[in-house]
Amino acid sequence: MAVNYIPETLEEALLLRKAEGAVPLAGGTDIMVQHRRAQGIAPDPGFPVMVISGLKELKGIRKLEDGSVEIMALTTAAEIAASDIVPWHVRKAASGMGAIALRNVATIGGNIGNASPKGDLPQPLILLDAEVVLVSFDGERRMLLDEFILGSKKTAIADDEIIKSVIIPPHDFTYSYYRKIGMRRANAISKLSLSAACIVKDGIISDFRAASGAAGPKVIRSREAESMIVRRPVEELPEIVPDFLTAWDHAISPHAMPMYRRHTTSRMLTYFLEAIVNGTEPGIIE
Ligand SMILES: Cc1cc2nc3c(=O)[nH]c(=O)nc-3n(C[C@H](O)[C@H](O)[C@H](O)COP(=O)(O)OP(=O)(O)OC[C@H]3O[C@@H](n4cnc5c(N)ncnc54)[C@H](O)[C@@H]3O)c2cc1C
Repeated sequence: MAVNYIPETLEEALLLRKAEGAVPLAGGTDIMVQHRRAQGIAPDPGFPVMVISGLKELKGIRKLEDGSVEIMALTTAAEIAASDIVPWHVRKAASGMGAIALRNVATIGGNIGNASPKGDLPQPLILLDAEVVLVSFDGERRMLLDEFILGSKKTAIADDEIIKSVIIPPHDFTYSYYRKIGMRRANAISKLSLSAACIVKDGIISDFRAASGAAGPKVIRSREAESMIVRRPVEELPEIVPDFLTAWDHAISPHAMPMYRRHTTSRMLTYFLEAIVNGTEPGIIE
């Protein structure tokens, strides 16, 4: 791919974005594939490209004062998977992205920027109410990732903005669940995925949430379905579950293999909910 620019600082990158409309290339694992041409010919996207992989300002993972975790945009899937401060759902998803070679270059900023409903990281991040931080010459703005991703391959990024980081608020879940269903264990784009989490205190479910990946144009969380479970006693779950599953089924809209995706989503949610009802030891439900 003809690379037009290689900025050395974030400031330079923001200038190139504003003045030249240069599009960021981080790991390049999506952008290079999307604009590929015949074998032996370099990809040509038809717009100016800037390689941002050298920008130190966009690297690293850190814990913030309020206990949130900030993952900078150029952090790779391998770095996320290896971090002990990143919440479990996100580490788990990162460790199952593609094969090792891919995980070493694919970035969180690229996974979000690409906004594929099959992308692995938006799903647990949306479960955890993560926010994306966007930066431009005018300053920074923060918004829920769920609102930033508008649909398949569509985001709310402005022409002069760059994704700076993702901030995940702290959580202390009683039960956590994550499952990605792909063709193979490695190097397979997700066919379907689900993460779920809940907090149980004194027999009451004080927080319940789930997120479906590859089951619609973007990651789906149904607050309506979730609210059917929140603040209810665990012992009432068996009678709530059928209506909850129906509500979740209405919320998802898989376009390919819909029966398979609907049935499997329902099976995964049932599996998680049954573990809670059965009083399984708190922790990760596998
Ligand atoms: C063989 C193969 C296997 C794959 N397997 C998986 C998989 O299992 N799971 C999965 O989720 N994905 C998978 N992918 C897709 C891809 O690797 C991921 O989406 C990856 O996270 C993209 O990151 P990147 O840094 O390579 O993005 P790039 O290709 O560099 O960029 C992707 C998009 O994001 C934009 N962008 C990147 N960084 C920023 C930024 N900081 N600010 C604003 N915009 C930005 C770019 O302009 C571009 O539009 C696979 C791809 C390949 C080729």
